Amino acid sequence: MLDILIIGAGPIGLACGLAAQKAGLSFVIIEKGTLVNSLYNYPSTMTFFSTSEKLEIGGVPFVTTHTKPNRADALEYYRRVALSNNLPIHLFEEVTEVKLEGGIYTITTKKASYQAKKVILSTGFYDIAVNLDIPGEELPKVKHYYQDPHYYTLQKVVVVGSSNSAIDVALETYRKGAEVTLVIRDSEVSQRVKYWVRPDIINRIKEGSIKAYFNSNLEAIREHEVDIKTPEGLITIPNDFVMAMTGYKPNFDFLKKLGIILSQDKFIPQYNPETMETNMPGLYLAGVVCGGLDTHLWFIENSRVHAEMILADIMAKK
Ligand code: FAD
Repeated sequence: MLDILIIGAGPIGLACGLAAQKAGLSFVIIEKGTLVNSLYNYPSTMTFFSTSEKLEIGGVPFVTTHTKPNRADALEYYRRVALSNNLPIHLFEEVTEVKLEGGIYTITTKKASYQAKKVILSTGFYDIAVNLDIPGEELPKVKHYYQDPHYYTLQKVVVVGSSNSAIDVALETYRKGAEVTLVIRDSEVSQRVKYWVRPDIINRIKEGSIKAYFNSNLEAIREHEVDIKTPEGLITIPNDFVMAMTGYKPNFDFLKKLGIILSQDKFIPQYNPETMETNMPGLYLAGVVCGGLDTHLWFIENSRVHAEMILADIMAKK
């Protein structure tokens, strides 16, 4: 029987593992994909908005010569931290069920079954995209994840959204020779866009290099064109690819299946903010999974402390 089973080997699951190791507890980290799977699936060109010391876990220095680390730096860092500390991690093993009986958790995965006194859920939010729910969304030219701008050279690309991800896609594909149209439901580019990127996109829109429709929504997608509902009426433009950068959400069905209560409006899971313990005794939340639909609230910088909070509570109750 394990003291703790940690679900998800993202940065915060690893931070929990390091804290459990420091406390001398037995534990295992179960991950359905590769190590730091979400980061692995980020755009190859991405740069973190945080400086490296704010992404550090377990007090291990994150050394890089870049002011803001990029995806490759982060993969290198978290892999080195996991391997050099010999964290017990099982990769490519999805957790499908967590059941509490007589104060003990039984955790079932696609490969095995485990028993643990405590469970930490650090499953993030990057696996499920928020859909547009419009005709044509199922076409293969519609993407919710973006890897690299080169693929879109000389293509007519519609980017939906105005978050950091959407604006990065718009600027990068434009600079690799795509014809880019932004469809933004608000009246301006999001104020949350990185402060050094926002002027760039505003100026590209002003000079007409990137076309933007504000207060607008994508209405329908077809093989070679899309319909956009604008304040001036419905327009149809030729199109090769739609980048629906409309955000991601935690796996709410999985959380509910585990017995975690979610709020009515934003599906925020119920937990004690002092200890991170949910309404299920001995089941803790860590990392960005805590935010419900408000996925911008939590990030590595401000959620890595969850690891120490949880371990403090587990040790206090021992
Ligand atoms: P994740 O890294 O998402 O880890 C969750 C893990 O759980 C995944 O590996 C997943 O495969 C696994 N998992 C899910 N379900 C199961 C299951 N049933 N069984 C087993 N495993 C499962 N934050 C910052 O602090 N600074 C930044 O600069 C920054 N930039 C970002 C840029 C982008 C493009 C994005 C999308 C996010 C950024 N963030 C940033 C936010 C933060 O990096 C991520 O959200 C981070 O990955 C959160 O860590 P986590 O461990 O909570 O979740």
